[in-house]
Amino acid sequence: MTQFPFSAIVAMDDMRLALILNAISPAIGGVLVRGEKGTAKSTAVRALTAVLPPVEVVVGCRFSCSPAAPDPQCPDGPHPVGAEAQPRPTRLVELPVGATEDRLTGSLDVGRALTEGVTSFQPGLLAAAHRGVLYVDEVNLLHDHLVDLLLDAAALGTSYVERDGVSVQHAARFLLVGTMNPEEGELRPQLLDRFGLTVEAVAPRDPATRAEVVRRRIAFDADPAAFTTRFADEETQIAASIVAAQARLASVVVDDVVLTRIAEVCASFGVDGLRADIVIARAAAAHAAWRGATAVTREDIRAAARLALPHRRRRNPFDAPGLDEEQLDDALGEDDPDDEPDPQPPDAGPGEDGTPPPPNGQAPAEAPSGGGRESVAPTGATFRARRLEVPGKGHGASGRRSRAYTDGGHTVGARPPQSVLRDLHLIATLMASAPHQVRRGRTGPGVVLDRADLRERRREGRESNLVLFLVDASGSMAARRRMEAVKGAVLSLLLDAYQRRDKVGLVCFRGADAQLLLPPTSSVDAAARRLATMPTGGQTPLTAGLTEAHATLRRERLRDPQRRPLLVVVTDGRHTAGGDPQAAALRLRHDGVASVVVDCESGPVRLRLAGALAQALGAEYLSLDDLGDLSVAALAGSVRAYRREMVA
Ligand SMILES: [Zn+2]
Repeated sequence: MTQFPFSAIVAMDDMRLALILNAISPAIGGVLVRGEKGTAKSTAVRALTAVLPPVEVVVGCRFSCSPAAPDPQCPDGPHPVGAEAQPRPTRLVELPVGATEDRLTGSLDVGRALTEGVTSFQPGLLAAAHRGVLYVDEVNLLHDHLVDLLLDAAALGTSYVERDGVSVQHAARFLLVGTMNPEEGELRPQLLDRFGLTVEAVAPRDPATRAEVVRRRIAFDADPAAFTTRFADEETQIAASIVAAQARLASVVVDDVVLTRIAEVCASFGVDGLRADIVIARAAAAHAAWRGATAVTREDIRAAARLALPHRRRRNPFDAPGLDEEQLDDALGEDDPDDEPDPQPPDAGPGEDGTPPPPNGQAPAEAPSGGGRESVAPTGATFRARRLEVPGKGHGASGRRSRAYTDGGHTVGARPPQSVLRDLHLIATLMASAPHQVRRGRTGPGVVLDRADLRERRREGRESNLVLFLVDASGSMAARRRMEAVKGAVLSLLLDAYQRRDKVGLVCFRGADAQLLLPPTSSVDAAARRLATMPTGGQTPLTAGLTEAHATLRRERLRDPQRRPLLVVVTDGRHTAGGDPQAAALRLRHDGVASVVVDCESGPVRLRLAGALAQALGAEYLSLDDLGDLSVAALAGSVRAYRREMVA
């Protein structure tokens, strides 16, 4: 398949620069590209390999050993000096978000090691990516245990696969490129910090530029071969510039003045640790080499800091991304007096316009029409929320909310391996083999093992869940202080969900209907924004709210069947529009949806309608005041296990 040429990409200067700097100096540590859908992030990543120089590999080695310096641990080795070699284009290996651990690291058959005495290893994506590019689209949706494996390999340049004492290792050095849409959830900080550089990809706003992007895309789709030929010279030129910069990099001087300046910039942005300093120094050196220079200047540091700092400066979870460029210029100090303008490399040279990124994803929630007077209450004080959980044991992605069978955690039993044996339960394996020893003709002290004896550990830990908030935003809640308290409580639960790595969603009901304000997402930021702008007023269509929640959870179950939902209904239990909520509540209950009703009723005369709703839902019933994490005892059994049979 013909790739869109790297040199034909318009208006993604930051992203192209970040990729090129990493190609020149892989030690920078990779690129994370954040941006909405439709910003051609993936096109740019895939186009990169065409301008990277080919690599020499030992013929027949599945681990891409270099003939000049073969990996001494190579499972296909050892390779003799002067082994036959051939050039191969640089590979782009894509890691799918739903990949298994075996697919990523390769699979080691412990069963064969135990029963046949051979080490059998099937290389995974980390091996395939060695000396190439490892690309993770939607990297923010990657499972935690894959993230850990990826980080370990990236940090060590080696992939270790160990199963119960049988181990294999091989070199795995790659340029890590991740793309993500922040609206779908943030990356955990440890992974964020692993990426050397980050880039915000935004669609260009200038009409002429936008038109050019579209024009090129149409031309490419109409005739890829002709389009690629048009850019062949530029492609060759960029490829040659990268090779030249790689050669020049070793002679680029990073002196004490440069390092001091970098340290001052990092201090100004309140960056923890020294990683930012190191990344900026490396990226600045690569930038100088790319310019054709051998000394690092203020502009090199500036270009590097713009890409290395946005994700490392101290910020709160809900702060906007990006970097204050004025603050950066202040921290960098005066221009170097002896700076001379260096020759710029062709086309993809560093972008200098310095336009600040627009505020990210600030789509305000649209108010539904009709429904009487409405107002937007401020968000009240937050508190540390107690853990609400789904009863029973799930099989969802690891997290910190409900009990579940997981890869980690403590051992609760043994079972025959589900696929390749990976977590040997030795005692259980020996016990399973014991009754067959005589029949198998055992004479000496050695145990005769059969594949059927193998047992792996069954472990229990905690999973993350989908917490769907169903919030009454009607006029009956509109007494200003009350809605303020409700928003504060929901925000507290959202912060708690962020800690526990849950997905969250938000449905509100008011006026004539219910509205899905936020479809299930891992972006707690997005949920907090929708909550803050959620208006209050009008009638109370509780039934419509329950029906919308039900439909949302059904859709989500199809998409992500392992993730168990927890419905949190925040209401005073009133309904003044639509049918009887009882039937809608029973439908949720029959679907096995675990729920919590948070009663917001206040004042001297109370109807306790929310209590009846909780009963219909089979839900835990709490008041707003009960949501705080008051004691350890309060945590235990915080949700009654009403419908164990539904979850079992
Ligand atoms: Zn090899």
